[in-house]
Amino acid sequence: MRFGIQTLDGFEFCGKTVLCRVDMNQPVNRETGTLKSTARIAACVPTVRELSDRGAKVVLMAHQGSDIEYQNFYCTKPHAKELEKLLGREVKWIDDVTGPAARQMISELKKGEILLLDNVRFVSEEQTLFEMKLALTHEQQVMTQVVRKLAPLADLYVCDAFAAAHRDQPSLCGFEQVLPSAMGRLFEREYCVVSELMESPERPCVFVLGGAKISDAFIMMETVLENKAADQVLTGGLVGNILLAAKGEQIGRRSLDFIYRSNYGEYIEKARKLYERYGGKVMTPLDIACVEKGERKEYGLGNVPEEAAAVDIGSDTIKRYREVIFGAKTVFTNGPMGVFEEKVSESGTKAVFEALGETKAYTVVGGGDSVAATAKYAVTDRLDYICTGGGALIRFLAGEELPVVKALRYGAKKFGGQ
Ligand code: ADP
Ligand code: MG
Repeated sequence: MRFGIQTLDGFEFCGKTVLCRVDMNQPVNRETGTLKSTARIAACVPTVRELSDRGAKVVLMAHQGSDIEYQNFYCTKPHAKELEKLLGREVKWIDDVTGPAARQMISELKKGEILLLDNVRFVSEEQTLFEMKLALTHEQQVMTQVVRKLAPLADLYVCDAFAAAHRDQPSLCGFEQVLPSAMGRLFEREYCVVSELMESPERPCVFVLGGAKISDAFIMMETVLENKAADQVLTGGLVGNILLAAKGEQIGRRSLDFIYRSNYGEYIEKARKLYERYGGKVMTPLDIACVEKGERKEYGLGNVPEEAAAVDIGSDTIKRYREVIFGAKTVFTNGPMGVFEEKVSESGTKAVFEALGETKAYTVVGGGDSVAATAKYAVTDRLDYICTGGGALIRFLAGEELPVVKALRYGAKKFGGQ
């Protein structure tokens, strides 16, 4: 037991069927079916290997999203191939989650064998919980398809998905109600490192927030500003665009259309409230970059062309943000400063991440795309901690009891170890 949660040390696994929820959600190229980063898959390896070595029949559950928040789910087939390579042993895969085919395959597994099910978010209940803002209690989650169909086939549940620990969903919080449960090795390590780190971060403590997961970013900003964990927040990416729009700045019609088309219009209003409360602590871009005829063009605020799409922060912003980073003692980063996948719009992300590599401050980077960016700009080894979680990390830092932590603690109380 650690933190009131069972660890893998609390159980015998030989011959047991273990449902193990991992987070292998990676940036994916949908056209070629290839993964642009495999960092999270590599992070799952110790737990999967240990379970298999200890004779468990390992059934892995995972989700895969897409670039824009929770839309465009993708299958987990490439993940099985990658995991197989990393483990050096076979990983079976099936394009089914809870149906008869998946259940048959689970029941036929032998000791040590590993099966990855398809994307759990293909089961609608798993996603409606956040898409439709439905709130099922953990007890109610027991009645969902994924728990009803899979729990009877399993002896134990292991959650290693620290990066998804802030999601209140059946595959994450439902099984602990009905099966003896433990956290995996990755979950255990991230929990330890991050909680130690946050006990008293050295000041000034700066949060760099960018990327495209708007609802997460807003919760983060609100919590870290409210509980004073953050002395300053630097914003970029789509988050920065929304904040600029809220200030009444011109960010280009295509940027604004994109915000409304993605249903983020309401956040412009939320951003205004954020300014009213914490104005001085939230920094927004001073200039932005657009792409015109394949070339990068930068504009100061006030001069942005009407039709533009803001895809990166500009040079003045880069300079200012780097100064703030060099003046900080602790820097948490989640989300890139622009569409860093394209060369013309990578400068902001590249410069900020290089600053993270250079600064003497304690640096933590979390999030699928952000971790991919640390590798792309070769700063991985110079950061102090890389966390698989983005949203989970920030909420954990904000002192929230994450839903999965709560569920695992419940499981530990109800079933204990063995
Ligand atoms: P992380 O995975 O690190 O948590 P996110 O998933 O929130 O980060 O954001 C990454 C995505 O945000 C990238 O695909 C990137 O192209 C996109 N992005 C960054 N800046 C912009 C922008 N200005 N407009 C649209 N998308 C953006
Ligand atoms: Mg991402």
